[in-house]
Amino acid sequence: MDANTNREKLKNMILSGKTYFYIDYAYGTWYVDGANAPQFMISDEYNPVEAIQKSGAVYDDDITLFESFAQNVSSGRLGANVNSICFRVKSDVSEPTWYRLNVRIADAFMAVGDIDKMTEREIMDHSILDYYTNDRQPKIYAGIIEKRLEEDIENDYAFIQFDIKNFKLINDKYGEPVGTELLNYINDTLRIYCTDRQIYSRLSSDIFMVVTPYSSPDEIEHFIRGLEKRMSGYKGIKYDFAFGVYYVFDRKLSSRIMGDSAGIARSVVKGNVLENIGYYNDSLKTSLKHRKEIEDSMYPALENGEFVMYLQAKYSISDNVIIGAEALVRWDHPTKGLIPPGDFIPVFERDGFIIKLDYYIWECACKQLRKWLDLGYEPVPISVNVSRLHLKSSEFIDSIEGLVEKYDMPKHLLELEITETIENINANEMVQEAKKHGFTLLMDDFGSGYSSLNTLKSTPFDVLKIDRSFLSSFMESDRGQKIISHTISMSQDIGLDLIAEGVETKEQAEFLYGCGCNAAQGFYYSKPVPVRDFEKLMSNQYAAI
Ligand code: C2E
Ligand code: CA
Ligand code: CA
Repeated sequence: MDANTNREKLKNMILSGKTYFYIDYAYGTWYVDGANAPQFMISDEYNPVEAIQKSGAVYDDDITLFESFAQNVSSGRLGANVNSICFRVKSDVSEPTWYRLNVRIADAFMAVGDIDKMTEREIMDHSILDYYTNDRQPKIYAGIIEKRLEEDIENDYAFIQFDIKNFKLINDKYGEPVGTELLNYINDTLRIYCTDRQIYSRLSSDIFMVVTPYSSPDEIEHFIRGLEKRMSGYKGIKYDFAFGVYYVFDRKLSSRIMGDSAGIARSVVKGNVLENIGYYNDSLKTSLKHRKEIEDSMYPALENGEFVMYLQAKYSISDNVIIGAEALVRWDHPTKGLIPPGDFIPVFERDGFIIKLDYYIWECACKQLRKWLDLGYEPVPISVNVSRLHLKSSEFIDSIEGLVEKYDMPKHLLELEITETIENINANEMVQEAKKHGFTLLMDDFGSGYSSLNTLKSTPFDVLKIDRSFLSSFMESDRGQKIISHTISMSQDIGLDLIAEGVETKEQAEFLYGCGCNAAQGFYYSKPVPVRDFEKLMSNQYAAI
């Protein structure tokens, strides 16, 4: 039989499914055996890899991969373990099909091996490990996904893309080999955690994607949290993940677009320290643009003094006098005008800039208090907002202490408003720490969902700030009013002071007073105003006395 016939035969055998072979080095021949085909012998090529390559079965893109493998085989550089490569075989009818070639050197005279068609699962495993060599990999991945979405119409599907936040830092800190180990650990975890229902892949060095059926959004979150738990804590290293989720609603979109959408959702939470799962929706695209604009201009804005401290007075309900103020930031933008904090604080909380901005506002407050003291006034305390981000490290206490010292002012004049979360034990520690340092602590947004009566049992806080949503929604019903009045009397029982925020009407103020809460902040009394206007309010008050 001539060589060409054998090559043709070989190609057909590969295409038909499983192929076994063994090589007799002594005679320079190898024997091929298919599941259904009779054994035949190839003697004109020394190694099977070369023979397969010459059979014309190998896909053009994979030829180089094949060449280096062939060299290893013929130079005897293969080890006793199974050596394998994955390659695609040309087929006239459809997309190229994936095969794996395994060769094992049995002894000095013989090698054995097989060629096998890869299962979908094997292709995923391969692609996840071998992304370096293949830009073709996303293509096969896309093929698998699209096929699945087309065939499995019974299930809803979601794309989950994730990466390690600040992966570069891990490489810098522990060295690249450890970084690579970590990524392999994630590969392994994915392979174990995902069942045949999921399709997973590594898209680039530290970006991974899982496509999974789901029956409820809760199920997706559950899946993510489970995966996250297993992927975390490799060798005790601390790192976080950012997840982006895209729910498939139109299966006709290309898998690429759907994957990119999950990527957009991921990038939104990437810099966010408080949340790490983002969900895609159309407005995300716009908000990303908005966020970029803000982030591009925040540093110059801080330097140019565009952030301004406004003060909102706090009143004693019974005496109708100012007993304090809250510092609230405004962005006095050169072209956009006065921007309210709701438009930029969430962005800053994600990217961490809030730490700088808060510090700036705290300093404004201290400067102002110092100024009033120097002028011989008896200033009321100013409360400043402390973003939850500060509670991750004790640095914030050092910086506040630093300010108090720098402006040489009594500590009780600077109060701290903190929104407490029960889940965050660390935060609690920092709050305790601040308490030890002698600061007056206000629990902000009490009743808005984060905090609860539970947190009051052993709280380091001095004052509860009843959230305005709590007030407005509860005021509308009898039952709500009862809840407010009981909350007030209960907090008094355990020795906590109270202030209600968002007081907009006289009725609300009277109701609160009737329940025993004598401090209020809200539009009924005054809106947040520039420092100058606040000083006017104060001087009117003095004039009236
Ligand atoms: P917050 O700490 O709960 O501040 C109270 C918010 O309620 C302020 O909104 C204030 O203008 C508004 N408000 C006060 N009284 C009333 C009222 O009677 N009715 C209504 N409808 N609203 C009232 P603002 O100034 O827009 O601030 C929004 C949020 O932004 C603040 O909520 C706070 O969480 C954050 N924020 C503002 N300044 C800073 C800051 O310097 N640092 C940090 N970390 N967050 C800040
Ligand atoms: Ca506040
Ligand atoms: Ca509040």
